[in-house]
Amino acid sequence: MSEQQKYTGGCLCGALRYEAIGEPMFAGYCYCTDCQKSSGSGFIPFIGFPAGAVRFEGASAQSRSTSARGGEAVRNFCAACHSLVFGAEAGKDDFHTIYAGTLDDPSLFHPQMAIFAASRPHWAPIPEGLAVFEGMPPEA
Ligand SMILES: [Zn+2]
Ligand SMILES: [Zn+2]
Repeated sequence: MSEQQKYTGGCLCGALRYEAIGEPMFAGYCYCTDCQKSSGSGFIPFIGFPAGAVRFEGASAQSRSTSARGGEAVRNFCAACHSLVFGAEAGKDDFHTIYAGTLDDPSLFHPQMAIFAASRPHWAPIPEGLAVFEGMPPEA
């Protein structure tokens, strides 16, 4: 049996950490306006894992906004240094999105898609070779 890939990372100060094991469900860039506002950047690079594959350690605080699908979008940041670290509510949601900039080894991020490209600012170009969706991918 081959060793499963481990993804570790956390916030700037080190108080909020995570470990994810196995294959990501999806990975890409989200250019939605909420991701722009909450990150102060042009997009958020995300990696999706089933909730059971991720463990979190440390105190997080949440921000909540209305998601594109009408539900609640939860973003988690470190309670101490306020780095934005992951999406979805621990213990409640079926999967989590880890924000790729928080990986200890950012080279583990292999994006496949660009979503909400319709709201992308012109100064945040989409890398070549990605599947581009104006909004949510149709099967999500
Ligand atoms: Zn921190
Ligand atoms: Zn977004």
